Amino acid sequence: MSKVLTILGSINADHVISVPHFARPGETLTGSQYHIAYGGKGANQAVAAARLTDFSLGNKVNFIGCIGSDEIGRAMKKAFEQDGLDVSAVNEIAGETTGVAMIQVAESGENSIVISAGANGALTAEVVAQHEDKIRQADYLLMQLETPLDAILAAAKLAQSQGTKVVLNPAPARPLSDELLGLLDIITPNETETEILTGIQVKDEQSAVLAAQVFHQKGIETVLITLGSKGVYISQQQSGKIEGQIISGFRVNAVDTTAAGDTFNGAFLTALLEERSLFDAIRFAHAAAAISVTCKGAQPSIPSRLETDNFLA
Ligand code: ADP
Repeated sequence: MSKVLTILGSINADHVISVPHFARPGETLTGSQYHIAYGGKGANQAVAAARLTDFSLGNKVNFIGCIGSDEIGRAMKKAFEQDGLDVSAVNEIAGETTGVAMIQVAESGENSIVISAGANGALTAEVVAQHEDKIRQADYLLMQLETPLDAILAAAKLAQSQGTKVVLNPAPARPLSDELLGLLDIITPNETETEILTGIQVKDEQSAVLAAQVFHQKGIETVLITLGSKGVYISQQQSGKIEGQIISGFRVNAVDTTAAGDTFNGAFLTALLEERSLFDAIRFAHAAAAISVTCKGAQPSIPSRLETDNFLA
C-alpha cells in the first residue's frame, strides 16, 4: 500500500559569498563567487525525500512551510514542486520576506552564518491547524527546529493522536521540553545536539550508549545519533530491552558537508516509507549523504534516487 511522508520546516535562500577572511567591524571587504542556493533545513530534508522517493511505488511527500511574498520564495516553491513534492501546504505570507541565510565562506574553509527567519517565523500552530489533513494522512511526520516550537509541539500532538510516527531532527541545537521529547518515536541528533539535549559528550560508543539511554528514558523508542564521517549510532528500546550499534558510513572525498544531515534525514525517511529495515534505511541514507558531501551547497548537492541506487550497486 502506498505511504505518505509529511515534512514540516523552514525554507531559506542561502546567499553565499567567498571571502579571504570574515569582515571585521567597520571593514568593507570584497568577496567573490557570490551565488544564491536554496536551503533551510525543512526544505533540504523535503527535497532530499522527494529526489530519493521512487514515485512509481505510489508514495507521496508533503511539505508544510512558509515563504514570503517575493520572487525568490515563489521560485523555490516551484522548484520543490518540480522535485515531486506536494506543495499545497507551502504558504505565501503577505508582508513577509522569505527566510534568508547570509553565509561567508572564508579561505580557511570556515563558515560564518547570519539568518533572518522571515516567513519561517509565521509557521505557527494556526498554520499547522490549517493543514491538519497533511499530518492525519501521513505515516511519518519529519520536523526540525528552525520554525516556531509551539507549532512543532502542536503538530507532534496531532500526529501522535492519529497514529502518525513523529520523527525529530533536533537541529539547530536547543533545549527541548520533556513534553515534546515524549511525543517522539524517532530522534536523529548529531553529536552537538546530543550533548545539548542529554548533557553527554559523545566521544565513543560507550558515551553514545549513555546518551541514547537518556533519550529512551524520555520515552523515545528509536535514537539515531549521527557521527559525521563515522556514520551513526542506532539504539532501539523494545519491550524494556535496549539494543544499539554503530553503523559506519561510506568513505568519500568530502568537499562540503552542508546539508549532510538533512540529506541523511530525508533519505532515511524515504527508505522507511518503503518499509525497509532500519539497517537498510540507514545504509541508503549513508549513501545519499556521502554523495551530498562530495558536492558544494545545500539543495544542489542532494542526489537523485538513480545516483544513490547506482552508488549502492
Ligand atoms: P549534521 O550535518 O547534521 O551535523 P553529521 O555531520 O553527523 O550531521 O552527518 C550526517 C550523515 O552524513 C552521517 O551519518 C553520514 O552518513 C554523512 N556524512 C557526514 N559527513 C561525512 C563524510 N565526511 N563522509 C561521508 N559521509 C558523511
